[in-house]
Amino acid sequence: MERHEFGAEVGRLLDLVVHALYSDREIFLRELVANAADAVDRRRFEALTDQFLTLPAEAKVRILPDKAARRLTISDPGIGMSKAELAQHLGTIARSGTLAFAKSLAEAPAADKPSLIGQFGVGFYSAFMVADRVEVTSRRAGTEEAWTWASEGKGDYTLAPAAREDAGTDIVLHMKADAEEFLEPFRLQAIIRKWADHITIPITVARDGKDEPANEGTALWRKPKAEVTEEAYSEFYRHVAHAFDQPWATLHWRAEGALDFSALLFVPGMKPFQAVEGERQSQVRLHVCRMFITDEAGLLPPWLRFVQGVVDTEDLPLNISREMLQATPVLARIRKAVTNRVLSELKTRAKDTEDYARFWENFGPVLKEGVWEDAEHRKEVAALLRFRSSAVEGWTSLTEYVGRMKEGQEAVYILVGDDPAALAKSPQLEGFRAKGVEVLLLSDGIDAFWPERLPEFEGKPIRSITQSTIDFSKIAGGADAGEAPADVTGLLSLLKDALKDEVSEVRATDRLVESAAVLAAPQYGPDLQMQRLMRRAGR
Ligand code: ADP
Ligand code: MG
Repeated sequence: MERHEFGAEVGRLLDLVVHALYSDREIFLRELVANAADAVDRRRFEALTDQFLTLPAEAKVRILPDKAARRLTISDPGIGMSKAELAQHLGTIARSGTLAFAKSLAEAPAADKPSLIGQFGVGFYSAFMVADRVEVTSRRAGTEEAWTWASEGKGDYTLAPAAREDAGTDIVLHMKADAEEFLEPFRLQAIIRKWADHITIPITVARDGKDEPANEGTALWRKPKAEVTEEAYSEFYRHVAHAFDQPWATLHWRAEGALDFSALLFVPGMKPFQAVEGERQSQVRLHVCRMFITDEAGLLPPWLRFVQGVVDTEDLPLNISREMLQATPVLARIRKAVTNRVLSELKTRAKDTEDYARFWENFGPVLKEGVWEDAEHRKEVAALLRFRSSAVEGWTSLTEYVGRMKEGQEAVYILVGDDPAALAKSPQLEGFRAKGVEVLLLSDGIDAFWPERLPEFEGKPIRSITQSTIDFSKIAGGADAGEAPADVTGLLSLLKDALKDEVSEVRATDRLVESAAVLAAPQYGPDLQMQRLMRRAGR
């Protein structure tokens, strides 16, 4: 047996890893399983080009807890490590210095600390968070000899000859007394499901002498479309979206070239409470090379937050920190590509009115937020909006409205309120009805806001009818609305005196046919619905 000192920086690093990341100890399993899965992938890859290498009989990663011995073994039939490789990979720090790691660790927000481990290529050392002794027995594929590397994580390690039947690696963790929870099969399975469900190599956890599969997920999104059945899509949708229905839309594609990623996204068939009322951030999952990274990358803008699914890229380093995620231009480019793809799908599906209505009734109010807050996509989103109208049954679009505009009609007219039934009966509509001018009726909460940011559509201004002065005589056809009586000056000043500070102006109008009076808002400033909302908010 040989005894070796750790490379200069390893000792300090170990100390850091063990102490700084104590509250996230469970990630040791993610790191070790990721290494094991990588090793299996590498063996497969090398076997493609090296005729002396064989494929493992069964390519799976096994996790074997032994409570009685307080021992956890992670075993893989991967590429393995030679004696020199053990010393090099597990005895020195390959990629970056301890100092940089220590600095990042000190500066990173708590939530980012666990991912730093992987980023600095020190994942293996996280084993010492839960174990006070680690033994690694490994046999390099294509060689006959095996070696055991062992350490207590305190400055040195030993190397001794060992035996192993086939190529691969066994990592034996002698667990600390306070880490016994990681010997519970259920706990181990839960950690795998959380962090490594989508590793394509099977991972099993041994319970009562039997290997039980721990990762049910196959990386469905990586398969060619032709190989995926409808049922498989639905099942996966239910899994990622925590849903029970059928998706309204399934988008599965692979981008190659400037950006490399696979995406499998779904628009739910039903409205989940969460998507509309809850968290505004998109929860589309980000994977890097199949490994789950985070569901908080904001892969889609908030106004597409109802979209569920996975984006898996090779263009980011595994274990990228959240801080880095925010900064990387790669993510911004993926976000753009994915957003455009979803928009073009909606555009295509919108051609089928009935089909699109099923989507619109669930997620229309969310989509409208895009007009309000996303200048870049405002126009495209506006074309996807659907409305109730004073003139036609069912849903209609701005484009259809513009197509129906009367000769001489200059604007798209909207009426905003709370209740669709009350809107349809509003006296505000009388003059428009009489003249045959269509008005769009808007009754979602967000409708009080977005029109302000969309002053026009296809060159036509969008006007709230409670706000605008309209000259009906310019518009062709239809009956002219009731003429204002010749002399109402006396009545107007009477009303003005009576209402005093309640109104800023009392005017004669030709907008009414049956009703005697109607409230109007000044042309510049908030429209009536906005004023109502502001009053309700106590302003
Ligand atoms: P990283 O995985 O980021 O390189 P780690 O600290 O997790 O950093 O692992 C260090 C290195 O040790 C790996 O790059 C790999 O070469 C080697 N290694 C770790 N675990 C295994 C394993 N199960 N089989 C083969 N090699 C491994
Ligand atoms: Mg690793």
